Amino acid sequence: MIEHLNRREFLRYAAIGATLRRLPLASAHGLAPEIAFTFDDPTTDGGANLTWQQVNERILDTLVSNKIKSILFVCGKRVDSNAGRQLVAAWDRADHLIGNHSYSHLFFNVSTDDDPAGSKKVTLAEFEADALKNEPLIQGHLHFNRLFRYPFFKEGDTAEKRDGMRAFLQAHGYRIGRATIDASDWAIDARLEKRTEAQPHADLTGYRNFFLQHIWERAQFYDSLSQRVLGRPLRHTLLLHHGGLNALFLGDLIAMFRRNGWRTVDAEYAYGDPVYDQQPKTLPAGESLVWALAKETGKFEKELRYPGEDDVYENPRMNALQL
Ligand SMILES: [Zn+2]
Repeated sequence: MIEHLNRREFLRYAAIGATLRRLPLASAHGLAPEIAFTFDDPTTDGGANLTWQQVNERILDTLVSNKIKSILFVCGKRVDSNAGRQLVAAWDRADHLIGNHSYSHLFFNVSTDDDPAGSKKVTLAEFEADALKNEPLIQGHLHFNRLFRYPFFKEGDTAEKRDGMRAFLQAHGYRIGRATIDASDWAIDARLEKRTEAQPHADLTGYRNFFLQHIWERAQFYDSLSQRVLGRPLRHTLLLHHGGLNALFLGDLIAMFRRNGWRTVDAEYAYGDPVYDQQPKTLPAGESLVWALAKETGKFEKELRYPGEDDVYENPRMNALQL
């Protein structure tokens, strides 16, 4: 059974080029779907044998050469240093928005079996304070924008926490910087990082192919779902992370969307879509905005796994490909 699965997964991902060429255009509504690229969690760790400066420059250069303005959601603890301040300033100078991703990246939902941040007892008051604690690192920038992105896309596991934080953000002039297309580039990046540490000259084509296929699949899923939930096209936002994987392959990702008929747009334009002001009343709250809006209708139970995205879904596939 394992062998069968591995072979199936292998065939599925090995033929990436052919697969992408066969995929139909994503648009079912006759208009080109629109997508903005958003980046979370910049760090000065570097990645994929690149220094943080090289990672940063590569991502910024790719955005410039593709004429795309993005948004950097800054988590303070990762950039609370001179180098970190330089990193964020480079995004500001390049005219990308600077958003708030909290200082400590706390896990706002109490999770029964897993709790990535080990912070089971985060209260509303603590979570609020942590959002404000991040402001000194970001609010001086010209392109600071009051968009708040919840760590892990977890918006609270009780109505009190969910609605309390939403009221708090509104009182402080923030909108919620949700993404419509959630994905697990971070899990692929972690695998790539491990490989390049062990084998600095390893062939990374498999990571690239898996990354493109994974993001394409998730984009198809969330675009299809959004059309059925909203009955209109929306301006998509894709969750990506600042790191080695995107330093190497962001250009290929952008090219893939364009080749398949998607229109790449600026983050500020995307967040102009009023869909981002909707406040789904789901519990536990969070996940992709499209996921939450679909969940709220109660009509898509079979399609909505929980959590919406996680490395547990991608790890077996990457194992099968020996990534
Ligand atoms: Zn994050």
